Amino acid sequence: MISYSEFCDNCARVEERVRKAAESCGRNPETVKILPVTKNHPLDAAGFAFRRGFKSVGENRVQEASEKIAAADFRLDWELIGHLQSNKAKHAVANFSRIQSVDTQKLLKILDSAAAAAGKVQRILLQVNAGNDPAKFGADISDAPELLGFALKCPHISVEGLMTIAPLDSDLDVASECFANLRNLRDILQKDFSHPLPELSMGMTGDLERAVAEGATMVRIGTALFGERVYA
Ligand SMILES: *Cc1c(COP(=O)(O)O)cnc(C)c1O
Repeated sequence: MISYSEFCDNCARVEERVRKAAESCGRNPETVKILPVTKNHPLDAAGFAFRRGFKSVGENRVQEASEKIAAADFRLDWELIGHLQSNKAKHAVANFSRIQSVDTQKLLKILDSAAAAAGKVQRILLQVNAGNDPAKFGADISDAPELLGFALKCPHISVEGLMTIAPLDSDLDVASECFANLRNLRDILQKDFSHPLPELSMGMTGDLERAVAEGATMVRIGTALFGERVYA
């Protein structure tokens, strides 16, 4: 695990990357949030993020995150960015401020009842497989309207936007196309459903510039902030 001062240096580098990417396409850098991804790193990684002033961190497994949340002596919003199995939905509602990986009606139904039972409104993003990658979770673009329509009828669910993960490909144009697909889908859904979908969570360490260029409002960054992941 890196030191806090190394983490701060890494933050400055990532913030600079975001700033340059935003400015080169005429966007205000402040419209792009950085979500530090602390998965596979010890609790200290989240502690560093807290100390540096971040308000939220991303985790991809319910079990790993719950253990950290229970042990943390600081307050952060924890966001789930990894695939969620329906048998863990209740646990996810109890632990996460926002769930970015909602991709089926079945999961929405279970999250809605778990949120009702917990007396909360669960904030979510809908995960879309905007790069048509057979290896990725996420709803197909063509199924997204029906999924959003269903989500908007769930009284204990609040849909704040869309999330995608670009296909793993050395050609960054593949990522750009995926991100553009997500933004276009968002624009269409927003209009057709008259429901604001302000958050576009897209871009990671390797492709954040492409994501910012296509309209990302949140980039999820692990490696560039914390180094290679410590445990599997
Ligand atoms: C791990 C992960 C990230 C961060 O990836 P890096 O390449 O390490 O920045 C972002 N999003 C999701 C969904 C992840 O699982």
